[in-house]
Amino acid sequence: MSENNGMSLSARILIGMAVGALIGIVINQFFTDVGWINTYIVDGALYAMGKIFIASLQMLVVPLVLVSLICGVSSLQDSSKLGRMGLKTVGLYLLTTAIAVAIAIFAAHLIGPGVGANFPPVEFAAKEAPPLIDTLINLVPKNPINAMAEGKMLQIIVFAVLFGLAITQAGEKGQKVSEFFQNMNEVIMKMVTIIMAIAPYGVFALIARLMATTGLESILPLAKYFFLLVAVLIFHGAVTYTLLLKFLAKLDPIKFLKKMRAVQLFAFSTASSGATIPVSMETVTKRLGVKNSIASFTVPLGATINMDGTAMMQGVATVFIAQVYMIDLSMVQYLTIILTAVLASIGTAAVPGVGLITLTMVLQQVGLPVQGIALIIGVDRILDMVRTSVNVTGDAAVSCIVAKGEGDFDMDIFNDPDAGLAFEEVDLPDGEQA
Ligand code: ASP
Repeated sequence: MSENNGMSLSARILIGMAVGALIGIVINQFFTDVGWINTYIVDGALYAMGKIFIASLQMLVVPLVLVSLICGVSSLQDSSKLGRMGLKTVGLYLLTTAIAVAIAIFAAHLIGPGVGANFPPVEFAAKEAPPLIDTLINLVPKNPINAMAEGKMLQIIVFAVLFGLAITQAGEKGQKVSEFFQNMNEVIMKMVTIIMAIAPYGVFALIARLMATTGLESILPLAKYFFLLVAVLIFHGAVTYTLLLKFLAKLDPIKFLKKMRAVQLFAFSTASSGATIPVSMETVTKRLGVKNSIASFTVPLGATINMDGTAMMQGVATVFIAQVYMIDLSMVQYLTIILTAVLASIGTAAVPGVGLITLTMVLQQVGLPVQGIALIIGVDRILDMVRTSVNVTGDAAVSCIVAKGEGDFDMDIFNDPDAGLAFEEVDLPDGEQA
């Protein structure tokens, strides 16, 4: 047995997180003035460890998505299934995001996080949000190598789907190419397993540095906004997906949520759905039982276009800003917020902090001052972590629902609490277990 004593990956990550938080808080409280601690520990070792960890995850994303999606599509017996699955997936992604914003707006309207708040006027230079039409035009890569080099997820998906379809139509020669990609997929999945071994250390470094550099006092003036958003995010993660899984797929939500713990912790500490793709993919296929033919499509697509948590932040933030500036919103404006936040979440890149940029799009649509964003920037880093966990949970829930509906779901894997746990253990030569 390894020196992990059989401890699950999520338990090891949780320990890394807790120790990181503790050390970060101690640095923040007692050592902020000590030069060498800042230079060599906070901006030295911790910074480098965190960056290396995120880069190792990102390194896997493009090869993993490309290869597993080609495998997935080329293994489909019936290519008309692809269209149906695509429509169902996109439909559910849009629906869950719309529900998420509606909950967020309703709660913010009810609680009034910005009512009576008295903030000094702030200056804020808004960055231009990318026009949505560009997302549509840029779906097709002019140069697939370029798309891969730049990690343009939607373009990679389009290329891989077409490539996979072509394999199915290329007879015996196509079969050979398909075998190559199946083997390649195994190898890349092994790489994911290897990277998992450093996750607890990476998470430790990310959280320690965050806590060392973010004073929690910044939350106080925005406590109402902060805790309301956290509450609606938890509600969506725990209740909406539970109901959807139960009623649309007849799946036990508790089992689902238990198996999602590691993915949520990854998303939380990296604040990037994109960097979490490798872990989501492994969990959705090996722990939850979704066949690769579905997961290889739904997971990367979800990481790119499905951002329920981000949309919730935009809903609460918009109402909050309107309340601070004492601007009344009409019913039509509320509906506009829902629509724009859903569209904005499609255009939001799966990396930290981008939700705040696309928030400008929502504010402009309803005529609110974009400077309002400056009010919430101080607490956005921590909220980004929570909403990214919700984003990835939504991707996995929809993957399960679509797979169940298509008959591409393995109930034995889903019901087995230990299924896929092996992927969390790395096989190294004797005596060198990770
Ligand atoms: N960090 C989020 C994600 O990667 C996007 C955002 O809300 O800024 O899912």
